[in-house]
Amino acid sequence: MANQKGGVGKTTTVLNLGAFRALAGRRVLVVDVDPQANATSGLGVRLEEGSATLYDVMVQGAPARSAIVPTAVAGLELLPASVDLAGAEVELVNAEERERRLERALGEVRGDFDEIYLDCPPSLGLLTINALTAADRLLVPLQCEYYALEGIGRLMETMRRVQSSLNPRLTLYGVLLTMFDGRTNLSIQVADEVKRHFRSSVFRTVIPRTVRLSEAPSHGQPISAYAPGTRAAEVYRELAQEVDERG
Ligand code: ADP
Ligand code: MG
Repeated sequence: MANQKGGVGKTTTVLNLGAFRALAGRRVLVVDVDPQANATSGLGVRLEEGSATLYDVMVQGAPARSAIVPTAVAGLELLPASVDLAGAEVELVNAEERERRLERALGEVRGDFDEIYLDCPPSLGLLTINALTAADRLLVPLQCEYYALEGIGRLMETMRRVQSSLNPRLTLYGVLLTMFDGRTNLSIQVADEVKRHFRSSVFRTVIPRTVRLSEAPSHGQPISAYAPGTRAAEVYRELAQEVDERG
């Protein structure tokens, strides 16, 4: 999940899509690649003093297994982040193959999971490059607001650079419209423009703006646990189903 813009729904999508994929029986790992650690807190994980995080894995070479923790959702595990991760970009600056740290680390656990979701920070820096190098697919959430497509050219250019130099496996998996408000012409216009631009890459499922989705993280729960049976939960279940269809 990447988009260098903040607040577009990357973390919300990682948590809720991950939860519904796990509820559908897949073995899912969420990797929190953002020093803001919103995926970690959003899954209700409180780290004990001294427990390993992605920082230890990427910078100190700790095994990924040593940092992975279970969550309240059966089948959903988490490789957590902490604020230390903010130092990784600087500390790795002279490291050999610094773009491949995450790919290497996840290599040891790939076989334990059916799907791994990487929650990127809002930048195109070294952490996001590590995520794109480790990933098979890029999913881009786009907020249905003015300037939704601003910066997308740079994201696509970054994807192509990673494809040609570090990770030929990487493909654009899909573009997800988020925070759609059907009562505003703006949301409708933005959605139309994104569909013209990305055509079949756009997911059929569109995530509406709903207060439930913004409340759930403060309770440390994905929407499947916080508000099951609501439209907000239903729509992420539909996205999980669409991911199943896309393969
Ligand atoms: P990002 O990870 O791209 O920075 P987030 O997923 O954290 O974005 O979302 C930004 C903010 O918007 C968060 O407070 C989140 O709870 C809220 N939010 C995300 N998706 C929705 C939605 N569909 N409706 C309402 N609020 C949302
Ligand atoms: Mg986020």
